[in-house]
Amino acid sequence: MDYTGSDIYCDVIIPKKVTLNVIKETDDVLAYYHTQPHWETHIIITPKKHVLDLVELVSQPDGLARKLLDVMAEIAKAIEEREGGCTIFTTTGNNQNAKHLHIHVRNGAEL
Ligand SMILES: [Zn+2]
Repeated sequence: MDYTGSDIYCDVIIPKKVTLNVIKETDDVLAYYHTQPHWETHIIITPKKHVLDLVELVSQPDGLARKLLDVMAEIAKAIEEREGGCTIFTTTGNNQNAKHLHIHVRNGAEL
């Protein structure tokens, strides 16, 4: 995929301009297997409305943080049952390539 913009989530992923292996989708949250995984298990969880990052998420008035957390916990539980555990992380500021909140869930320990 040749995408060079700054928000692949609003531009490509959420409108499903590419084929996604979706794990869970609600009115507000999309979770799918990363299209170019860096780990054997590599899942992305993202809000379907535009939110820049974790810092901006906490100021959302609509309970979106809780909705995201619920999907994160459900997926973490499933991976834990299957693989023993997982690592969950997100990025902000200069460390964030795609300027739309997205949470990585991957196999393996934190380091
Ligand atoms: Zn966005």
